[in-house]
Amino acid sequence: MAEDEVAELFCCSICEDLMLAPTTLVCCGRSFCKECLHLWIKTNAQQGGIPRCPGGCMAKVPFRLPKHSIALRKAMEQLVPDRLACRIKEAEEEEEEMPCFGGFKAWTEIAASRDILYGSSIIVRQGSPGIVVGNCDDGCHLTVKFDEREDGSELCVNVVPEALMLPLPGGFRLHQRVVALYELLLNSDMKVPLGSVGHIIGSLGGDRVTVLFEPKQEKIPEYPVSVNIREVAAQRPLVGGFSIAQRVQASMSLVVGNKVVVHAGCRGTVLAEFSDTRLTVVFETSEAAPNCFNVLPLEILPWCDTPPEFPAGTSVRAVHHLMSPCAIIVHAGTRGIILGGVDPSLVFVSFENGPAVAAAISALETDTDAVGETACLGGSLESGREEPETCLERSETMAPEAGSSDLSSIDPEASDEEAPDSTTEAGSGFACAVSTPINSARATVVLNTD
Ligand SMILES: [Zn+2]
Ligand SMILES: [Zn+2]
Repeated sequence: MAEDEVAELFCCSICEDLMLAPTTLVCCGRSFCKECLHLWIKTNAQQGGIPRCPGGCMAKVPFRLPKHSIALRKAMEQLVPDRLACRIKEAEEEEEEMPCFGGFKAWTEIAASRDILYGSSIIVRQGSPGIVVGNCDDGCHLTVKFDEREDGSELCVNVVPEALMLPLPGGFRLHQRVVALYELLLNSDMKVPLGSVGHIIGSLGGDRVTVLFEPKQEKIPEYPVSVNIREVAAQRPLVGGFSIAQRVQASMSLVVGNKVVVHAGCRGTVLAEFSDTRLTVVFETSEAAPNCFNVLPLEILPWCDTPPEFPAGTSVRAVHHLMSPCAIIVHAGTRGIILGGVDPSLVFVSFENGPAVAAAISALETDTDAVGETACLGGSLESGREEPETCLERSETMAPEAGSSDLSSIDPEASDEEAPDSTTEAGSGFACAVSTPINSARATVVLNTD
């Protein structure tokens, strides 16, 4: 194959010369010089259009171009080395790129430093990210492609340099709501507690952002604080809908090996998101042993103060069956002990012979005669609610010693047979780890009984 024919294979159809920084578009797979594509995009954008593929496929061209193809460049270096060297030399002589107005560089990331108005309406919000396309011919504006415009238009905007800023470090945006991932000590009496929420107001350079925290406590400063970008994170719900520093409680006893390390109802605090499926929680166990665990969302429940009529430790009875979507979890009349609050209408209850369950306070009554009268399981429905007749026979199985425990331990391995002795934590130092047979699957333990 003649060199001319080979060179033809590497021709950019915009400049009709050998490709420099060959860049392949995903729309149709055609390749062009990176600079030719930039010029194509800029010309189209400044003529008020939306740049489309120069290969003729009509797809929109991305303003952020992909990296150039190393394979194509190497192939040219091997097959047409002399022509390529000559082409590179020409391009170098041609021009040196001038910075844009305000010192910004074309094709670099920026953000709007203030709201950008068209007439009286905002078309780009302060903080919106975008990319500089180049100088406008009028000698004072820059053409910018913002990622989002308030009016939904995809066209570029011509703005003065004062309306632009370099992007904040860490991918943060102005006004973004963030949460403190650590307790941030400022001085002896000012600190920002873990989980404090604030919003980003700027950056002092490097990898620091300035945050104005919401002064919910008197020790939180009312002035902006400069923090490292790793000390805060965008405020968003974590897996399971929990949040940083949220107060939680174990929804079941957590077992490591065959040892209960955290009892159902034990309080804790969410420290971080450990993975896509687990949260790191520090539990207030009495043990000196490690008390930080990476738990699944179903292993914890939100915690709040209990309602005044049901303080923690109160003996209660279910006034009607507590249901999961397909089974009765707790029968009407079953006794239990309040462990803690979940939200204003839900409490976490350890029921006799069964799992600890988040129950609506409307489904509970104070057990005035905790000793004596035997509850009639599955009987008298006082709530008037229509309950299906599918009673679970096994729920009648009694625990070895009723009332021996104010915390119900849930062993996922426990079978439906008589309470096995092996689940008693002999000599483990845990006061109340008598497992009882569980009728419902592990995943039905946490449920909203409403
Ligand atoms: Zn070209
Ligand atoms: Zn195309």
